[in-house]
Amino acid sequence: MSSDGINSNGRDERKLNFLEKLYLPEIIKALAYTWRKMRKPTVTVQYPEEQWTPPDIYRGRPVLVEDDGQPRCVACGLCARSCPPMAISMQATETEDEKERAPDWFEINMLRCIYCGFCEDVCPEEAIVMSKEFDLVFHDREEAQFGMERLLVPKEQLVDRLEYLAAERNGQFGQRWDFQEANNIHSVRDRTADSDLEE
Ligand code: SF4
Ligand code: SF4
Repeated sequence: MSSDGINSNGRDERKLNFLEKLYLPEIIKALAYTWRKMRKPTVTVQYPEEQWTPPDIYRGRPVLVEDDGQPRCVACGLCARSCPPMAISMQATETEDEKERAPDWFEINMLRCIYCGFCEDVCPEEAIVMSKEFDLVFHDREEAQFGMERLLVPKEQLVDRLEYLAAERNGQFGQRWDFQEANNIHSVRDRTADSDLEE
């Protein structure tokens, strides 16, 4: 071993055979590989000129679901408690309508968010879901604080994700998680029309 740490005695080196010493077969193999790849369809997207639409399973930035002009969120705080980088903050307030609680303000610090989807997983109201939006740009730290005005997205624009969750998550968790929109007593179901609850 030389003083610069390089093994100079050649003890662990493999002996090259004649063809390997020529290098030509390896060069030809590499050219053949390149030629094969050149003839295959390209998968590179010329972003941003060419836009990419992620699949429904994709986890883009988290958004709050707006249902009939109202956030589904009941400000229970579960998403904030489960968020690993503590990116979510909120303040609950009482409301006059059926769901009784709503966020007074709700913020996600997008500099902290790691797009893990835990908030979506724990939300009992399906009120926060991962969207397909991935190209976020901020000019300063304040811009990265997303308040309700940037977080709320009408459910009609989130149909792909909501249908994906209904199909995949309910199937995955079975009895333990069978989210049905009709069972969402806080934000979707009209409890005044439910005779069982009125009794
Ligand atoms: S996706 Fe993960 S990191 Fe981002 S807000 Fe939700 S729980 Fe927090
Ligand atoms: S988004 Fe869901 S988990 Fe988070 S506070 Fe609202 S209802 Fe609770």
